[in-house]
Amino acid sequence: LNDLELTDHKEVVKVGDVVIGDNDLVVMAGPCAVESREQLLTAAREVKKCGGQILRGGAFKPRTSPHSFQGLGEEGLKLLAEAREETGLKIVTELLDATDIELVNQYADILQIGSRNMQNYALLKKLGQLDTPVMLKRGYAATIKEWLLAAEYVVSHGNPNVILCERGIRTFETATRYTLDLNAIALIKAEFKLPIIIDPSHGTGKRNLVNPLAKAGVSAGADGVMVEIHPNPEEALCDGGQSLTMKGFSKLMHDLTGVADVV
Ligand code: PEP
Ligand code: MN
Repeated sequence: LNDLELTDHKEVVKVGDVVIGDNDLVVMAGPCAVESREQLLTAAREVKKCGGQILRGGAFKPRTSPHSFQGLGEEGLKLLAEAREETGLKIVTELLDATDIELVNQYADILQIGSRNMQNYALLKKLGQLDTPVMLKRGYAATIKEWLLAAEYVVSHGNPNVILCERGIRTFETATRYTLDLNAIALIKAEFKLPIIIDPSHGTGKRNLVNPLAKAGVSAGADGVMVEIHPNPEEALCDGGQSLTMKGFSKLMHDLTGVADVV
């Protein structure tokens, strides 16, 4: 990694009054996909009540199967805006396709670029033309170098507000959905100083592993945690098996105060 030349990126990214990359831990939580007003608002109120700062929720979903629920699209974005209005939480939501940049950018406080799009260089270049913070999830088969160079596409095209998100990589191990690479967290904080978030939900795929791996990620130096939560995970249209219940999330927030300064 010695030969990596990174343009000036922000070591601390500001999303309104929420600061990502300083000493306080930032928590992003919400459903995998926005499914309904009731589902989203229930989750959003819980995030707010427990002290989280950012509401997540996909309106455009990159599903492995074309037959799976693909998201509510603009209707989902409107529900996110309604939840923001009520709770004051900031919104992070996935941008899947360059044709939707204008639309999603009208609603999102942070644009999430998913694992499957990490090396979509045409999209990354276009994000360079915005000021909106970009959360770049690691490609599940990408090296740290490839990931940092993907971030460099956004930064070198004019947008220094990049936040990384480690969400697990594919290894020989199949007992968990992916393998969360905690090395990446420690290495990036030590050598590159980009803000970085840990996503133990996708990283493990198992609800009962989310809490311990969230704490491990924070101990390794993550600036924030992103977790999936659902009022009724059994009925989730997406990623129910890794979604925390409201109670599980409340416990996680309590536990995290033991390992970090939760703002
Ligand atoms: C997500 O966070 O909703 C998601 C689809 O994650 P990833 O791109 O990491 O699979
Ligand atoms: Mn998901």
